[in-house]
Amino acid sequence: MDTYNSIQEIRKVISSIKSEGKTVAFVPTMGALHEGHLSLMRIAQKEADVVVVSIYVNPEQFGPNEDYDSYPRTLDSDLEKCRKEGVDLVFAPDDKIIYGSGNKYLNIGISELNIHMDGGSRPGFFEGILLVVNKLFNIIKPDVAVFGQKDAQQYRILNQMVDEFNHDVKMVMGPIVRANDGLALSSRNAYLSDEERTIAPGLYRSLQYIIKQIQDGVKEPGLLLKHQISELEAKGFKNDYLNVFVYQTMQPAETLKSGEKYILAGAAYLGKTRLIDNIIFEI
Ligand code: AMP
Repeated sequence: MDTYNSIQEIRKVISSIKSEGKTVAFVPTMGALHEGHLSLMRIAQKEADVVVVSIYVNPEQFGPNEDYDSYPRTLDSDLEKCRKEGVDLVFAPDDKIIYGSGNKYLNIGISELNIHMDGGSRPGFFEGILLVVNKLFNIIKPDVAVFGQKDAQQYRILNQMVDEFNHDVKMVMGPIVRANDGLALSSRNAYLSDEERTIAPGLYRSLQYIIKQIQDGVKEPGLLLKHQISELEAKGFKNDYLNVFVYQTMQPAETLKSGEKYILAGAAYLGKTRLIDNIIFEI
């Protein structure tokens, strides 16, 4: 496994791989790798001949009061995990390499898909992601890119980017990998205290309870969601959002219709740690 931090070098290697007629699958990450990330690498291996993983904590997607400085950085053990997983190439650039030319005159805007959920709670977050993934796609030129459902709004927005900006990339979404008690794996789970870690699976349990009620016939989930927010707050969570959204538009859905694809999504704080989770469903 080779690791590169220079754009020119990785471009050279990838163009020689492509000249042999091989395909490239790409898994962008911010490192602090866990089983969720590794599951995407396994999907990538099935999708293409060569797997490229990027490890880069993108400052542009962190707000001023967010955890950019304290975000876990574990490059050596990340590289070891990639090696064990059989990853072919790792791209681990620094800020100068990614943003050296500046981003002074151009901004990428996102409309409707960015109003609610994490787009609503974290101003600038998805603009930062769109910017860096756009750059990474232009550097790696993957045939396939694999992202996790854990960040479903990110996937939805990036899918739209690929479509509207004509990136020649097949987008693949991997399922959410969870701990045995249901907590969605996340690099940020490392921030949880022992007590918070025991409470944390409550978010997924609430999502499961709501989905069960919807499957049992609830068509207007407003009250149900309100009750679950109270339950979560009683357990020690501080709610950010918990709602059902139309998957295509990422707009809140008040009355559920059969044949429409929805996402039940929640974000809540336990102490300083922000947890997110979701279930995509149709009725
Ligand atoms: P991150 O390093 O948090 O930016 O995540 C990199 C990629 O891993 C994104 O596509 C995430 O959606 C995905 N990912 C993060 N957590 C999980 C998980 N528990 N299961 C599956 N994919 C995940």
